[in-house]
This record gives sequence, structure tokens and C-alpha cells, in this order.
Amino acid sequence: MERHDTVIIGAGPIGLEIAAHLGRAGTECLVLDGGPIGATIDRLFPPATRFFSSPERIEIAGIACPTIAQEKATREEYLAYLRQVVDTLDLKVRTYHHVEAARVDGDGFVLDVRIRSGARQSMAARHLVLATGGMGRVRTLGIPGESHPHVRHELGDPHQYHGRRVLIVGGRNGACEAAVRCWRAGARVHLSYRGAEVHERVKYWIRPELEALIEEGRIHGHPRTIPATIDAASVALESLDGGHSTTLEIDDVLLMIGYEHDPTLMKELGIQTDPTTDAPRFNEQTMETNVPGLHVAGTATAGTQDRFRVFIENCHVHAQRITASIAGGELPAERSKRKLEES
Ligand SMILES: Cc1cc2nc3c(=O)[nH]c(=O)nc-3n(C[C@H](O)[C@H](O)[C@H](O)COP(=O)(O)OP(=O)(O)OC[C@H]3O[C@@H](n4cnc5c(N)ncnc54)[C@H](O)[C@@H]3O)c2cc1C
Repeated sequence: MERHDTVIIGAGPIGLEIAAHLGRAGTECLVLDGGPIGATIDRLFPPATRFFSSPERIEIAGIACPTIAQEKATREEYLAYLRQVVDTLDLKVRTYHHVEAARVDGDGFVLDVRIRSGARQSMAARHLVLATGGMGRVRTLGIPGESHPHVRHELGDPHQYHGRRVLIVGGRNGACEAAVRCWRAGARVHLSYRGAEVHERVKYWIRPELEALIEEGRIHGHPRTIPATIDAASVALESLDGGHSTTLEIDDVLLMIGYEHDPTLMKELGIQTDPTTDAPRFNEQTMETNVPGLHVAGTATAGTQDRFRVFIENCHVHAQRITASIAGGELPAERSKRKLEES
């Protein structure tokens, strides 16, 4: 069986940052990911989507993340940046290596890995880090018709909605940005959201534009509604203010109502988790869980987040804490809070 000192599961920004720090500290480590590097960003950001966070806040391991227009990074710029970090630092990463199961074995861990080709492999590690993210599962409404093939949870390329009647469900960033982009791509867009208005924390460059488009009747806003049933060519929307329902003729439905944390590996490994959010319990100084040698990092530490409070910019310190815990050395001093919580 292949053996490693440390295996990091997850080649998102934080998993890669931990590998960079451990490498600098002289500790051998391997990063495994079920997808490509930055799989969450690759999969969930539609083409050309800009980060909310400014580039210096999402750069990792002290390597600058310049952007072409000195603007917030796009999906493509950030993925290119992650590739550059991996190559520059010569990080050992195996993509399309999905960890299907993991267990404690003596004073280490054994992993069952499924490779993209379908082949399987077992690996042993002395230390294990779960940097598996917090968006592993889509949220569902639990209504009839949700599993129809024209119902999706990810926008993808807005081009595909040209000439289509699209219902987007949700009132936060993903849904609001999707509404504006699908409308620009030539779709007839309906937006159903629970609030009287779209969420106040929608990106400041999206919200006023969307509100104006709704006011002008170019995008059809359906405040205080939820879908009740989805058929092949229509959706019934129910009013939250008292029973009456509207039926819309629709070609595509985008349920952009958020994601949930997948705690399967954590539970399998015996990590104690919060019953409401599935967030793991861990030592804040070392990021080590109740299972000796098993650390958690990145957005995986927050479980399912209703309002995002843990994101890339406040997870950099996890890499330093884990490196100090595994490789020894000083724990980083607490950084004072930034004035803007997220920018
Ligand atoms: C549209 C959109 C915009 C966003 N904008 C921002 C922003 O502006 N700023 C910000 O900080 N955040 C933003 N986020 C959230 C951002 O994606 C996360 O903060 C970031 O990806 C977290 O990094 P991470 O390394 O903790 O986890 P992730 O990037 O989620 O990485 C986890 C990795 O683990 C892998 N993995 C999981 N389970 C397994 C397994 N069993 N085996 C192998 N691999 C596994 C996944 O494939 C994934 O690559 C946004 C998200 C979306 C969808």
C-alpha cells in the first residue's frame, strides 16, 4: 500500500495552501481531489463570474494573484492562478482521485480512493487533513417534479438559455446574478424569491441592476413566492402571503437555493459534529479534531452555512495552524480583524 506522511483531501484554495506550507516546512504530503484543482470554483462559478473577495484576500501561500484589469478575479483568472501555484511550488496533487471511504488504522489512516478511470487504490497516511469544502450537496425543496431533467442547480454557461423561458428560484447572489446573465443572454426570465426584496447582501454591482430590471418588467420578479410543483412545461408558484398560486410556462428551472455540507467522511472517521450544521468540532489552535492526527480546514470547518461567514480569506490561518501542529514550529499570532469583513 502506498504510504504518505500527510494526505490532504481537497485541492481547493485551502487544501493547496496547506500543502504549500507543509512543503516549506519539509513535510511530505499528497493532495487528493475527486475533481480538478479548484473543483468547487470550476463547477459552481459560471464562466467569467467575479469573486466578491478582492484578489489579495484570496491569494494563497503569499503568492500574488494579479488580475488583468486590477479588478476582482474572475473564475478563469483564479483557476489559472491555482494552476500556477501548484506548478510553481511543485505541489504533489492527484486530481480525479475521489476518497470514497476513510478509517482510523492504528496511529494513522487508511483511505479507499476511486480514480476517474474506475480503478481503485488504497493509501495510508500518518496525518490526514480534510479540506473538503462546505458545498458538497445541493439544497432541495422536496416538491414534486424536482428531479425532472430540465431542473438544475448550477447555471453553467448562460448561452444555453437563449430563447428559453427560465424560472430561477432564490434571492441571493447565485440566483440574482443568474437572472441578470440569463436575461442578457436572451432568456425570458422569472425570478421567484421568498423575501419581499432580493437579499440585502447581493453583490453591490448586481443588486441595483436587477432591481431596475424587475421594476421595468424586463425580468419578472415573483417576491414572497415558492414553487409548489414542477411539470414538464410549467411551474406552480405559491404565494407566501396566503394561498393563491400562479402557473408559469417554463422551459428550464434553476433552483439556486444554496448548498449543504457533506459530512459523510467526517462521520465515518468518528469526528464529532454539530447536530444542526454538521460542522466538525476541533481545537481552534491546532485545527485537530477529537480524532488524533485528523485535522479539518477551510470552509469544511463551518459545516452548512446559511449566511457565509467562513470563506477563503479567513481560512488562510488554518494552513499555518495545521503546519505548526503537524510539522512543529510556532503558531501564528492572531491577525486583527479587517475593517471590511469581506470585500
Ligand atoms: C458563485 C460563487 C461565488 C463565491 N465567491 C466567493 C468569494 O468571493 N470569496 C470567497 O472566499 N468565497 C467565495 N465562494 C465560496 C468559495 O468557493 C469557497 O470559499 C472556497 O472554494 C473554499 O475553499 P476550500 O478550499 O475550503 O474548499 P473548496 O474550494 O470547496 O474545496 C474542497 C475540495 O474538496 C474536494 N473534495 C470533497 N470531498 C472529497 C472527497 N471525498 N475526495 C476527494 N476530494 C474531495 C472537492 O472536489 C473540492 O475541490 C463562492 C462560491 C460560489 C459558488
